Amino acid sequence: MQEYINEAEEALLHTYNRYQVVLDKGEGVYLYDIEGKKYLDFVSGIAVFALGYQNKEYNDALKSQIDKVIHTSNYYYNVPAIEAAKKLKQISGMDRVFFTNSGAEAVEGAIKAARKYAYLKDGTTDHEIIAMNHSFHGRTMGALSVTGNSHYREAFEPMIGNIRFADFNDFDSVLANVNEKTCAIIFETIQGEGGIHPVQEDFIKNVKALCEERDILLILDEIQCGMGRTGFMYAWQKFGVKPDIMTTAKALGCGVPVGAFMMTERVGQNSLKAGDHGTTYGGNPLACAAICKVLELFEKENILDNVREVGTYLESSLDELASEYSSLIETRRGAGLMQGLVFKEPVGDIINAAMDKGLILINAGSNIIRFLPALVINTQHVDEMIDILRECLTERMEK
Ligand SMILES: *Cc1c(COP(=O)(O)O)cnc(C)c1O
Repeated sequence: MQEYINEAEEALLHTYNRYQVVLDKGEGVYLYDIEGKKYLDFVSGIAVFALGYQNKEYNDALKSQIDKVIHTSNYYYNVPAIEAAKKLKQISGMDRVFFTNSGAEAVEGAIKAARKYAYLKDGTTDHEIIAMNHSFHGRTMGALSVTGNSHYREAFEPMIGNIRFADFNDFDSVLANVNEKTCAIIFETIQGEGGIHPVQEDFIKNVKALCEERDILLILDEIQCGMGRTGFMYAWQKFGVKPDIMTTAKALGCGVPVGAFMMTERVGQNSLKAGDHGTTYGGNPLACAAICKVLELFEKENILDNVREVGTYLESSLDELASEYSSLIETRRGAGLMQGLVFKEPVGDIINAAMDKGLILINAGSNIIRFLPALVINTQHVDEMIDILRECLTERMEK
């Protein structure tokens, strides 16, 4: 394994401080490294592999699409894309879909759609977008421009212009930044990378009302918290507050790189037109065959019910752990199967210790352990995870 790791560090650009493991294959909610060691996976490729590894129906659907055609072009229609778009409309209640290759690309599209919408209204090009501190929207220049972490942005300035940052869940802070040039307000319904901060109901409702009053577009980034992770297909559905534009990715293709931005008919009719936006791969038959099968399996396997049930169990198990180890752990935050344990100290050593014991976890910021398991986990998997984590915490206390 060490040899591969050395080779990787010779060949790959070092943009990640990777964990010292070379993963080989997956089975259900477990991963195996190339030496055959088994790991319980509570990351699922960062909220991607919702169905678990080696779902036979999913794999078969991809294989059969590969044997038909993998890619054509967006200049032609293809049935998987039509079916995927129809299903996405159904689960989201949005009206228009544009498929992308990634989350960041979906955010780019959302920004372009919002700017074009405002441009068509008044013909000016100095519109502003309000984003949130501690947000994360991706690594491309547009997505980075609305990412509320100056550490990620600084070396790459100048960003796209006219972005203002408000404090998440602080409506006064949004009001202080809004003006006649504001064309959109963007936030994650639950901030992921920023530390698992769920939106507060009054905040999302107040922002929505403000947006309606001033014809500002509400853009919700559901790339991490969407696709069933909170027990709702999209986390905003819990509040009955519908965005004008939303983004989705990560679990959308369950491992096939694909995302989408979607909008209401009103925005669709008054923003991006033929020639305004495009992508070579986005929504190709392979990616869309994946989406179709994923959404079919979500229904067939009652994923949302499972998330609600196991999510509640995960929540109470983590709460118990937090009170048991209150000298290490400050609190738990999250919803459903998107949870964070907030520690009073950096969590890197604990995550490494867990990996030694066969449990894959990930951080969100330096002090938070994030839990993003496959959405098919059961309560025994939660128990297994808690047992390993408890061992790590006990050892940490003894140090
Ligand atoms: C992961 C993520 C992105 C970026 O998605 P990529 O596919 O990595 O480009 C954007 N927004 C949120 C909320 C994310 O969690």
